[in-house]
Amino acid sequence: MNEMTLIFKSCLENEAFARTSATAFLMPLNPNVEELMEIKTILAEAVVNCMIHGYEGSEDGNITVHIRYEGNVVDICVRDEGCGIEDIDLAMQPLYTTKEHLERSGMGMTIMATFADEFHVTSTPGKGTAISIKKILHDTHEDSR
Ligand code: ATP
Ligand code: MG
Repeated sequence: MNEMTLIFKSCLENEAFARTSATAFLMPLNPNVEELMEIKTILAEAVVNCMIHGYEGSEDGNITVHIRYEGNVVDICVRDEGCGIEDIDLAMQPLYTTKEHLERSGMGMTIMATFADEFHVTSTPGKGTAISIKKILHDTHEDSR
């Protein structure tokens, strides 16, 4: 088992930092191009959600990304201590967004759920939100394609 935790401020420039650091950490698993693209997309969607929804654009919040893997099974948790989500089932509906004026499409949660093998959201209004993702990579004994 290997694991790491990143804690960083909710300013938009940290999105690229989170995405690239996380993928660098997973390099020993030799992910293929498709897996890398999916993991990067999951991280980008999750982290941007913390920034624009959880902290409403404030750059002063803390975002925590925790990643662990054992064999080819990767667990990713992205957490904020922001406003939280009142109705998680509704938030997970495709095309549902509370930020239409910011031209969000409401597809982030759906995209994360599609790319993940398991996807869970927990949230407490006023306290924050955590999303947990399990992603099973191709067998590490096979060559990367
Ligand atoms: P897109 O991701 O397509 O740009 P979006 O961010 O609005 O648009 P989703 O990522 O699917 O769409 O999220 C749906 C809704 O869930 C958001 O509009 C927001 O109301 C809520 N939400 C998602 N993540 C968080 C979070 N970390 N904190 C508070 N609310 C959130
Ligand atoms: Mg989103």
